[in-house]
Amino acid sequence: MIHLHGTGVSPGIAVGRALVMERDAAPVFRLTVPAERLEAEVRRLEEAIGASREQLRGIKERLSREVGAPHAYIFDAHLLMLEDPLLRDRAGEIVRKEAVNAEWALRSVSESLHALFSQFSDVYLRERSTDLDDVIGRIQLNLRGSPDAPSLSRLPGPVVLVAGDLTPSEAAELDWDRVLAIVTDVGSSTYHTAIIARSLGIPAVAGLKEATRQIPPGSLVAVDGTRGEVVVEPSGAALESFGAAREVYRREEERLRGTRGLAARTLDGVEVRLEANVEFPEEAATAQLYGAEGIGLFRSEYLLGRGLRFPTEEQQLDVYRRLVEQMHPHPVTVRTWDVGLEALGPLGPSSPNPALGERALRLLRRSPEPFRVQLRALLRAGLQGPVRIMFPFVSGPGDLRLALALLERVKAELRAEGVAFREDVPVGVNLEVPSAAVVADLLAPEVDFFSVGTNDLIQYLLAVDRTDPRVSSLYEPLHPAVLRTLGRIAAAAEAHGRPLSVCGEMAGQPLEAVLLVGLGFRSLSMAPSAIPRVKEALRAVRAGEARVLAERCLSLATCAEIEALVRAALAPSESARA
Ligand code: PEP
Ligand code: MG
Repeated sequence: MIHLHGTGVSPGIAVGRALVMERDAAPVFRLTVPAERLEAEVRRLEEAIGASREQLRGIKERLSREVGAPHAYIFDAHLLMLEDPLLRDRAGEIVRKEAVNAEWALRSVSESLHALFSQFSDVYLRERSTDLDDVIGRIQLNLRGSPDAPSLSRLPGPVVLVAGDLTPSEAAELDWDRVLAIVTDVGSSTYHTAIIARSLGIPAVAGLKEATRQIPPGSLVAVDGTRGEVVVEPSGAALESFGAAREVYRREEERLRGTRGLAARTLDGVEVRLEANVEFPEEAATAQLYGAEGIGLFRSEYLLGRGLRFPTEEQQLDVYRRLVEQMHPHPVTVRTWDVGLEALGPLGPSSPNPALGERALRLLRRSPEPFRVQLRALLRAGLQGPVRIMFPFVSGPGDLRLALALLERVKAELRAEGVAFREDVPVGVNLEVPSAAVVADLLAPEVDFFSVGTNDLIQYLLAVDRTDPRVSSLYEPLHPAVLRTLGRIAAAAEAHGRPLSVCGEMAGQPLEAVLLVGLGFRSLSMAPSAIPRVKEALRAVRAGEARVLAERCLSLATCAEIEALVRAALAPSESARA
């Protein structure tokens, strides 16, 4: 039995067999191969190497014909690598000795060869590691083509997925129905995969650092996403206690779902609108189950899937219309593509630091087409009901105006074509870049609403990478700078009469939610399953007292002081609930 401790990022308890995944160019699963199938697995490897050999010969011949033989020499080197005993024989040996699948064996070989290459003093030889990646990548691709290869969309049975990292596009492709729980080496609670797991009600523990090394594939794993605990090969007694905790959790969930019909009204009668954040259109049903009064954030980029292909205007129109129909009469706020450069094509340049690079609205300058198509679909979907358009990653009026100008052009285009659409679809800003927060007063007159993306706002304001578990203790939603910034945004929105919401994870934490109401927020958007607990916390306080509390917090110096004050102030209502 091994105990691992990480950050519980999605509550709930699950027990299942581990499926371990790491990534080369694409995800690589580590599977245990039964003894009687080992020779077949080695044959699968040999076939993939054979297919790679044929392809490389073909490429070499074509290149010799079209460009000249001297340029084709590089593929001789690739062919030699393919047959090198250090690669080919060694991979077969690993399959047999470690009883693992060919993909995983290749990955191990790749690691040791890279270590070897990095020791060469000759720069030319050292740089051949790129060729090695190319050759191994080709064999992996050929392995993937075999009919029994597992993939993200074809998981081998219900599993506890153990991954180093899981990108949003991988999450979009994942066969979630077969995921019992997720365990990752990296990440914290604002990590995108954690956000999705919470939305889908799947227990998850992140930031375990070495889980992919420590959890043997196929082992039995018990996951407690509430406490951040993972137990590998639990004892009978441990399994019993996980079972009991699961039952307590289930009953509490049932009780909380019973609050669905209640209003999120404070003791002194202030109504707070509670909406849902969703990544997949199917989650609208979950949002309704938890009593969401609309979708406050639809992360539209999940429509791209792992192939990173933008859906057509008609495909999007269909999705947006269905969302509006389902949430009727509540609004649906769609955030425009919040993607990085990679979405523009595999051959595009990459960003050295994607979090600060060309992404989201910044891509509008380089490539307006995907945004144009999305805005067309959104304006047309507006005829179906209350759709709102939200622009992410706005840094100030300059880039906002670029987006607004495109919106006007799209409207003119639709008018000229005689295509029906709604003229007055509300447009807002996802306030998440500190510079935008500083100039919120300048942005307010130009838009219809603000929704604060605290996940990024905190990351950029405090200079703490939201995905890096090594600095997750420094990621402080209650940092005085965060509260003061939120207070300024609220004041700017109020001065201009603009509706204001928070759609970052902070909104889904009961304690933080009370403070946000104290700061003047009257609308909060969160994972659907967070709604009942936030509602319960709000129903137990007075908005007037929350305001006084927020004001006191604004004068404190540290997150710890603020948290202590808020906890002490809310203790009576918390103990009343217990
Ligand atoms: C945010 O940044 O707070 C937000 C809501 O968006 P995301 O988590 O998708 O970056
Ligand atoms: Mg964001």
